[in-house]
Amino acid sequence: MCLALWQVWLTVRLMEQDRNLELQRSRERLGQIADLALAQLSRSLANWDLGLRELNALPPVSSTQARFPPGVTFFLISQDGIKIHPQRPLLFTPAPPVELTKTPGAFETADELELREQQYERAIAALRPLTLAPATRPEALLRMARIENKAKLHEDALDTYKSLAREAALSPSGTPYALLAASATCRILMDLGRRKEASAEAELLRNWLLDGRWRLSREAFEYHWSELDRLGAAAGPPPRSSIDFSVLVGDLYNRWQIAQSRGSSPGGRESQPNSSLLVWNATSDRLSALLAPPDWLNTTLKLPANSGDVQWRLLLPGMAADGTGLTVTRSLAEAQIPGRLEFLSIRPISGTASNRRTLLLGGAGLMLLVILGSGYVVYSAISRELRVAQLQSDFVAAVSHEFRSPLTTLRTITELLAQNRISDESRRQQSYVFLDHETNRLHRLVEDLLDFGRMESGRKQYRIEPHDAFELVRATVADFSEHAEAQGFSVEADLVRPEGISASTVRVDEEAFRRAVRNLLDNAVKYSPACRTVWVDGAVCDHRVLISVRDQGMGINAEEKQAIFQKFVRGQAAKKAGIKGTGIGLSMVRQISEAMGGEIRVQSEVGVGSTFTLVLPLAED
Ligand code: ADP
Repeated sequence: MCLALWQVWLTVRLMEQDRNLELQRSRERLGQIADLALAQLSRSLANWDLGLRELNALPPVSSTQARFPPGVTFFLISQDGIKIHPQRPLLFTPAPPVELTKTPGAFETADELELREQQYERAIAALRPLTLAPATRPEALLRMARIENKAKLHEDALDTYKSLAREAALSPSGTPYALLAASATCRILMDLGRRKEASAEAELLRNWLLDGRWRLSREAFEYHWSELDRLGAAAGPPPRSSIDFSVLVGDLYNRWQIAQSRGSSPGGRESQPNSSLLVWNATSDRLSALLAPPDWLNTTLKLPANSGDVQWRLLLPGMAADGTGLTVTRSLAEAQIPGRLEFLSIRPISGTASNRRTLLLGGAGLMLLVILGSGYVVYSAISRELRVAQLQSDFVAAVSHEFRSPLTTLRTITELLAQNRISDESRRQQSYVFLDHETNRLHRLVEDLLDFGRMESGRKQYRIEPHDAFELVRATVADFSEHAEAQGFSVEADLVRPEGISASTVRVDEEAFRRAVRNLLDNAVKYSPACRTVWVDGAVCDHRVLISVRDQGMGINAEEKQAIFQKFVRGQAAKKAGIKGTGIGLSMVRQISEAMGGEIRVQSEVGVGSTFTLVLPLAED
């Protein structure tokens, strides 16, 4: 037991050590995986830098683009303007073009008529020739439409704005004439109560603003966007991503301006709040940049093969690491990106550990089994030996007792006779009979023990001869009856051969056979304290002779029915009832019946009685 406990303790300690070792190895392995992944990330980013420098024209040549993750947006900012690939709308532009008035003083007359004299028709007439010259046409149309509206010629004004909407030029304020025309059209329609038409026009205007149809300053965009609600379009705030993108481009443009003014070549990598990555590179004459989408790390960071279930997450500055389970963190400073990467593994990465643990558990289980198994074997061997030793000591005590009582009686009577103290002749005769009886009993006991010893050692010689079994039983019963009757018992024998059976001859050793029958009769009397009759039956059946000795005594319980045929074994009920015996009677019966090719059977029920049947093969003719 102690050994088994020690074994369990040792296994637990070994597994604990093994787990710690495995944890340490897994942490080292996770560190290696993190370092390899970061090295690979740095290489990819360096490759992007290289690609960016080679980027002279947009769209980039396919060989260059292959270096970058999918979803990347490229920018090229130079004197030629801002090129974006793939094309994305800019809600507002960092450097809106400015139009200088090409024809100063051309509108003085019209202004005079409109503003001072309020002669609208004459003012319109003064403007009409100016609508024909390309240089003055957009401005003339704008003024004309305004005056027509003032003069309540609304339909004319709407027509004029329609013409103006087709113009591509910019007004002196930098706002495109087309935008001014669109918003003025909406306003007139609203004033006229034509709300539906006004909303449709405003919706159109909203889409144009979102498509980046015009190069607007941020202020112009925000002004016109805020106007949309008044003009009948439910605009809401402009999309955040479009605003962010336009701001980012504006910011890049400013950096290029600074680089240009300083003649320097800055550049760098920056994580955006939405996790996208900006990589840029400026020279005095251009700025090239790329914006990788928010999932750029997923597509760029490659974990080495055999990384198991290792996962990672980006910790932007200010974010705390998870820290639970097996984790390592690595700064992204080397890759020139702010933040850290956290690598975590749910299960240990070391593959050999589970095999080792299985082996360890298997070995420990096997050892435990061996210990418990051998413990059980030793325990059962010891308890068997103890049982045998107990049986033997019971046997010695029983035999001693069997000897002591007749010897004491013999001694007493012999002394009385020797000292001539029994004067009465009839009592003296009685003493001689008693002496004879007790001597016979002792003789039988000694014979029994000697025979038992011979049988046990295999030295017993049998004189096997044909005998009529019924005759032998009859003679044995006759001998036994004398002794039984003295104790108040009667034996009822039924040994008549059934009709048609000519012989009951068996090949047996006469003395041994009679001893077996006598032992059965002895037991029947001994274990039948209440009923004073025992029955002996003879039968011939299937070439076998069956001799049964039946009593209505205490019976034998089911568990003991087989054991009582072993030497020294005595029934519990017999011992409890204080019935004396040595436990060798039935063992001898079994050995005798087997030596003669037969067997002994028992049927018994506690409190009802027992029947022992000696079965012997019928002798052949
Ligand atoms: P012994 O009678 O000396 O104890 P045996 O070998 O003759 O030894 O019998 C073994 C045991 O079998 C007895 O102790 C008794 O418990 C049981 N036994 C034998 N014969 C009978 C019987 N006729 N009725 C009840 N129990 C019996």
